[in-house]
Amino acid sequence: MKPYGGRMATRSATGLGERFLRQLLEPGDPAYDEARTVWNADIDRRPRLIARCAGVADVVEALRLAREEDLPLSVRGGGHGVGGHAVVDDGLMIDLSPMKGIGVDPERRRVRAQGGVLLGELDRECQAFGLATPAGIVTRTGIAGLTLGGGIGWLMRKHGATVDNLLSADLVTADGRLLTASAEEEPELFWGLRGGGGNFGVVTDFEYRLHEVGPIVLGGPVGYPLEEGAGVLRAYRDAVAEAPDELTTILVLRRVPPVPLYPEEHHGRAVVNVSACYAGDLTEGERVVAPLRRLGTPLYDLLEPRPFVALQGMNDASVPWGLGYYWKSWEVAQLEDAVIDDMVDAVFELPTPQSYIIVFQLGGAISRVPADACAYPQRDAAFNVNINAVWQPEQDREAPMDWVRALFDRLAPHSRGRAYLNFMGEEGQDRVRDAFGPEKYARLAALKDRFDPENVFRSNQNIAPSTRIRDGSQ
Ligand SMILES: Cc1cc2nc3c(=O)[nH]c(=O)nc-3n(C[C@H](O)[C@H](O)[C@H](O)COP(=O)(O)OP(=O)(O)OC[C@H]3O[C@@H](n4cnc5c(N)ncnc54)[C@H](O)[C@@H]3O)c2cc1C
Repeated sequence: MKPYGGRMATRSATGLGERFLRQLLEPGDPAYDEARTVWNADIDRRPRLIARCAGVADVVEALRLAREEDLPLSVRGGGHGVGGHAVVDDGLMIDLSPMKGIGVDPERRRVRAQGGVLLGELDRECQAFGLATPAGIVTRTGIAGLTLGGGIGWLMRKHGATVDNLLSADLVTADGRLLTASAEEEPELFWGLRGGGGNFGVVTDFEYRLHEVGPIVLGGPVGYPLEEGAGVLRAYRDAVAEAPDELTTILVLRRVPPVPLYPEEHHGRAVVNVSACYAGDLTEGERVVAPLRRLGTPLYDLLEPRPFVALQGMNDASVPWGLGYYWKSWEVAQLEDAVIDDMVDAVFELPTPQSYIIVFQLGGAISRVPADACAYPQRDAAFNVNINAVWQPEQDREAPMDWVRALFDRLAPHSRGRAYLNFMGEEGQDRVRDAFGPEKYARLAALKDRFDPENVFRSNQNIAPSTRIRDGSQ
């Protein structure tokens, strides 16, 4: 792995910045506001210090500083967490975004990537060799948060979730040690890192298994009018029931965003987008996706051969930085008629033009990994339904949030009571427990007791340690 960056200005009012290779930012520094900004504009937190880390030594130093000064700590990878746990008021934010090292080993089909790498950056390097590891569907998402929570996207049904392809991780633990976790070293910690979120340390390096992918895949959306939505979604459900692993589909129910991807005459129209990625032989793929083009009367059909990296970037413009976001999600065992009808009805009453529902088709390779292989729990659900309110920062946030809550409550009877960690905002301890179920949660809590008994890493979807109550909230 190449060393990244060089010595930069470390001047700071407190003099604490001298300890850092890269930058220690405080309120008033020109770069401070940009550094504390995350994807969700509803998050407006002001850390006392932001340590922009150049490497492991900076992470160790930042952690030591936070502990010496008794500052609450947060860790930022790509800044895409909807709940904004990456940034903490009045505390110290460990910002890994300068850590961009990526090293592909095409012979051994492995890649190592540092904690500040984004999905698009990782895909670009790996696709130079025609390789990829499964991750998410928006290029600016951080590999760190996504991997630690699970990681679902276009390749999951063929090659598993991101955690299923994680081979090792280097992390700095609460006591400042640098550990490697893998199947051979610290296997229990490795079990917990794969789905347990950022509870056990600051992960500085990830190592993933790579697969041959593309570089051309068959991918993109077919858009149907929402008026046909109930029928389209029933037909879709039947069409994908026996889908091969190479095919992953994602539904988006929304108004067509005014972005160049979509034909201008349809901008603003309420639609069901049936999006697909067929990662395999293109001729066979055409045969497999054909039914998805005939679920109703398509308004547009953008499901075509395209570079995998282009498919990965396709949704970026539809979920920009700078808007307010609020998410709630459920896993469902099936797309029952009532679930379909509730979703379609809700999209007829969108609270803002940018709000939407996104449904990930699960199953395939992720469902064949044994349930106890790692902490990530989403093995036997068929779909994940994520309800997303979006608003301009100056707009009222209550109505959009109420819209999410109302649909979330309506879908509750059809859910399996589970949540996906990476789609959770600030939803409380019970919901984190529910995400894992009692057995996995107990195993994670035991790991937390071992590696972070004082809950230093608590600005996250928190696994509470049982040994010591630090902040009084648990
Ligand atoms: C537009 C958008 C699209 C998304 N698409 C997908 C998708 O397709 N599939 C999917 O599975 N998820 C998806 N997600 C969810 C995403 O996986 C989570 O938001 C994830 O937390 C983002 O990681 P990050 O590093 O960007 O976030 P950050 O906000 O930087 O971090 C989130 C949390 O992760 C922890 N963390 C981050 N880095 C580290 C580290 N190095 N060490 C220890 N802990 C760390 C911290 O607790 C932090 O608070 C999407 C999110 C957004 C906003």
